[in-house]
Amino acid sequence: RGSRDYSTISGRVRVAVRLRPQNSEEMIADADFADCVELQPELKRLKLQKNNWDSDTYEFDEVLTEHASQKRVYEVVAKPVVESVLDGYNGTVMAYGQTGAGKTYTLGRLGEDDAAGRGIMLRAMEDILAEVSPENDLISVSYFQLYMETIQDLLNPSNDNIAIVEDPKSGDVSSPGATLVEIRDHKSFMELLQLGEAHRFAANTKLNTESSRSHAILMVHVKRSVKGKDSSVSTENGNRTPISKTLKPPVIRRSKLVIVDLAGSERIDKSGSEGHTLEEAKSINLSLSALGKCINALAENSAHVPVRDSKLTRLLRDSFGGTARTSLVITIGPSPRHRGETSSTILFGQRAM
Ligand code: ADP
Ligand code: MG
Repeated sequence: RGSRDYSTISGRVRVAVRLRPQNSEEMIADADFADCVELQPELKRLKLQKNNWDSDTYEFDEVLTEHASQKRVYEVVAKPVVESVLDGYNGTVMAYGQTGAGKTYTLGRLGEDDAAGRGIMLRAMEDILAEVSPENDLISVSYFQLYMETIQDLLNPSNDNIAIVEDPKSGDVSSPGATLVEIRDHKSFMELLQLGEAHRFAANTKLNTESSRSHAILMVHVKRSVKGKDSSVSTENGNRTPISKTLKPPVIRRSKLVIVDLAGSERIDKSGSEGHTLEEAKSINLSLSALGKCINALAENSAHVPVRDSKLTRLLRDSFGGTARTSLVITIGPSPRHRGETSSTILFGQRAM
């Protein structure tokens, strides 16, 4: 399995792995132990320690070390998807990994005072705004939290149970009750993300839960008005002569970019948790395993992608498979204490390839 290109293989998921640096707590706690992973970025390989003398080797489409900049991560993980969304195709960028491994840092970091630290959401919007025309095109955004199989509108907290509607003919998915906000510039998008974050925090405080127990889903709707085909023919001397003086009407092209900051993938200890948390654990397992099954089906080019098993996959239904492009970044930490979780994150990524 070498690295494969989007342009040649349809229905495939591109998978990158990103290692975050050791944090200050780990610098002390893990001081006497070796990291559990070793990266070989040029070979696009990762070695995971199995025991003191042996390791397993895995290959990914891209291997991003702890030194990889946010810019590079964007370019590798999201930029090809953003470009195809601007060309009129749907696309999805997802981050998967245990809590604390760097999903939100990778996707949602705002870096208010540090433009270099900005994550994929802001960079994607920056590229989209640079490409579209304010007169002909419309960019609008919705922002959800999916918690316990319920979709909450992060742009309007009173909207706490959004329905998913699927067009049986086209397969298009919509969420008619959701707030859609038009985005015209970087500043208004930054403010919208801040608002969404504040609403998410408030909702989770009310529900007595953590944001790591829910999925955050940003949808960027792109509506472009594209000029009709150039109606001219070449003459012998190479000049173009219009066939007709009336211009063809513009074609409206719609696509969407979905960016998903998934719930933490860690196993939740059943013995230590009660009611609420166990239900949360079941719900997270349900949606992440449904997602895993869909991604596996895409990777195998299977005709049947089981999207109906969870709200998460129903919501993503028209944004992966077919002509849509999907990019998955799995995030991991270096600590040997999390070797088990890191291993299961790596296996999730491998099954997507
Ligand atoms: P998750 O969303 O997966 O739970 P976070 O993105 O919140 O994890 O990251 C956990 C902590 O690690 C945060 O303090 C974050 O700033 C830090 N962190 C994550 N990834 C990186 C990175 N690549 N470089 C520096 N710090 C990081
Ligand atoms: Mg997070």
